[in-house]
Amino acid sequence: MTDRRNDLTAWDRDHFFHPSTHMGAHARGELPARTIATGEGVYITDTQGKRSLDAFAGLYCVNVGYGRRQIADAIAAQASNLAYYHAYAGHGTEASVTLAKMIIDRAPKSMSRVYFGLSGSDANETNIKLIWYYNNVLGRPEKKKIISRWRGYHGSGIMTGSLTGLEAFQKAFDLPRSPILHTQAPYYFRREDRSMSEEQFSADCAEKLEALILAEGPDTIAAFIGEPVLGTGGIVPPPSGYWSAIQAVLRKYDILLVADEVITGFGRLGTMFGSDHYGMEPDLITIAKGLTSAYAPLSGSIVSESMWQVLVQGSDEMGPIGHGWTYSAHPICAAAGVANLELIDELGLVGNARTTGAYFRKALKEALGDHAHVGDVRGDGMIAAIELVEDRDDRRFFDASRKVGPAIAAAMLERGVIARAMPQGDIIGFAPPLCLTEDEAATIVS
Ligand code: PLP
Repeated sequence: MTDRRNDLTAWDRDHFFHPSTHMGAHARGELPARTIATGEGVYITDTQGKRSLDAFAGLYCVNVGYGRRQIADAIAAQASNLAYYHAYAGHGTEASVTLAKMIIDRAPKSMSRVYFGLSGSDANETNIKLIWYYNNVLGRPEKKKIISRWRGYHGSGIMTGSLTGLEAFQKAFDLPRSPILHTQAPYYFRREDRSMSEEQFSADCAEKLEALILAEGPDTIAAFIGEPVLGTGGIVPPPSGYWSAIQAVLRKYDILLVADEVITGFGRLGTMFGSDHYGMEPDLITIAKGLTSAYAPLSGSIVSESMWQVLVQGSDEMGPIGHGWTYSAHPICAAAGVANLELIDELGLVGNARTTGAYFRKALKEALGDHAHVGDVRGDGMIAAIELVEDRDDRRFFDASRKVGPAIAAAMLERGVIARAMPQGDIIGFAPPLCLTEDEAATIVS
């Protein structure tokens, strides 16, 4: 084992094509790449024995924390009892059927069905297809465009990469532009008119959305997709009144709402779903990450009863829906999901996200809110960000070449805490496991 550990760095450099990584820098050994060996609670340990408090829960996903025996045992039991059976043509397993029921029991009342995938990206690809299918069944073949927001993150697939409104994820891929449109991000801190109140800025976002809909033609717009709290685009909670203003516009033009709850689903904001938290009434909800706390890959598209009725009409007219993955509702992943949701309830993690999250955000604000280079400390529940500025008055970012955000994240790592330098601007992101204690929160802040 010791010998192999010594080889890992070279094998990694020579053979492992990593996602979202500077390929050349990695291959040349210029990145401080780490091989992670174990995890327990909010801590991970690498092969060199260095332990870090993971204040980003992997990629905002290990919500119950690492090393949970209950989930590991459920995975092992499922793997030995029935490692696989497909979900086509009405088949299910005990785990997948139970999990569907558990999800719907926890979801907003209007939701009734869940389609399982494996990643947030494929769940959003499914959503796009369901939206197009829905409008075809309703005899509205022109109503197909989908509006996303600048700074939204919805995945890295072909269409979901287009939905994602972040240049870093689109550069040089020739992703299809049509039929995707983008509108203003609800990024209050960076509003152009600084005299606007939060409510005025929300109204401005809704007006810009309506102007886009009218310019394109309401009969061509099928859906709007948004994360309750913008995640990878900078961890930006919506300004007050945002979702009600947006939904009023969508209802006016008969446009579906997709709540992308890949980060916010299952407790991150201190409520089971972000939709509950912000009074959103979506037609589709995307889930992934917290569904299994990343103990196994699993995602889902939760469908409202009213949308479901139209989909049923579609198969009555055209036969079985021609959409499916081999690994939809994979029983091992579903077993992980069941054990994970049970654990979230047993440990009261949704409540802890609310209370310890509030403690953590308050402590961050007290410690750093007045710092000369901190422009904003923001968040909700157990997710937070610090936005760094060169100058507090004009809110100017540091010159990108100085890489201030990555340097701070690296300095924190040196001191044993993992935070994320967000991909856009000098923003340090925090999304700790929902089991975080006040002592651990204090360690992150210090
Ligand atoms: N949607 C949101 C809001 C996300 O944050 C992510 C990933 O971070 C995705 C979709 C894509 O999920 P995945 O990386 O599992 O494909």
